[in-house]
Amino acid sequence: MTYIWGDERRYNSYKHFLQQRFGGRIQKLTVDAGFSCPNRDGTVGTGGCTYCLNDAFNPSYCLPEKSVAQQLKEGIEFHRNRYRRADGYLAYFQAYSNTHAPLEKLREIYQPAINNPLLKGIVIGTRPDCMDREKLDYFAELNEKMFVSIEYGIESTLNETLSKINRGHSFEQAEEMIGETSRAGLHVGAHFIFGLPGENEDIWFRELQKMNRLPIHSIKFHQLQIIKGTKMEQEFKDTPNTIHLFTMDRYIDFICRYVEQLNPTFIIERFAGEVPPRFLAINSWGEIRYDVVLQKIEKELEHRESYQGKLYGL
Ligand code: SF4
Repeated sequence: MTYIWGDERRYNSYKHFLQQRFGGRIQKLTVDAGFSCPNRDGTVGTGGCTYCLNDAFNPSYCLPEKSVAQQLKEGIEFHRNRYRRADGYLAYFQAYSNTHAPLEKLREIYQPAINNPLLKGIVIGTRPDCMDREKLDYFAELNEKMFVSIEYGIESTLNETLSKINRGHSFEQAEEMIGETSRAGLHVGAHFIFGLPGENEDIWFRELQKMNRLPIHSIKFHQLQIIKGTKMEQEFKDTPNTIHLFTMDRYIDFICRYVEQLNPTFIIERFAGEVPPRFLAINSWGEIRYDVVLQKIEKELEHRESYQGKLYGL
């Protein structure tokens, strides 16, 4: 059976989207342009989100001391040697908040990416409060030359939760900036976490309609993982009952039921997070890789004779 997104996978996959959009195999390259975060440097707050230890996860070629052009060059070489040759690359500016600088600085940083002929586009991870009209106009201008995706960390639809995790912005701010970004013609990605303090399944299903109405294009879901050295590690020791840590089986069951009600136009880029086990304070999923988790989710959807959006709008 071919679903409305145009292939036989039981969900609207990012892989399929990339194939359709670029007509070949696209590899994402993580680039660290040396941005900071307004929730750490005092612009919005200090101390950061309670679950965050952002510095931990960059690949070895990806160091902010190297220029963006150098990181791209080394990233492409690394992937060419290691994996099947890609037909093109997307530069993924992931670390911290990649629009947290004046516009002139953003131009300096993103220009090398635009000048690289192997690059098909850029994906920019940021916060809703690090974007404005001027920056959106700049990215819309770039979008005429190459694919530009702005990926916002939303994390929760509840302001009470956002406040508990010291996020430093509200859901309404996120909603407004997502709307503006979408109206500027840019691809909008969103990131959500399941398991934050005080939240549970009843809340996620209740809030799903709010999610489904967002004008986003792609979405990443993460189960909460507690990273060593974060404030949340201490919070979990002090009040374990307020934090929802999924076992893998429970999560697979939950995410399949959730996806059945999810807007079928949302491209799913990730169903779950994958943090190297050495960084985890609590590791209940073992050494399992994301591609294995994905296979289990696809198998469960098949077992349930279900698919993304099966119950959407019912
Ligand atoms: S999760 Fe993002 S916004 Fe929060 S402290 Fe870390 S880098 Fe900053």
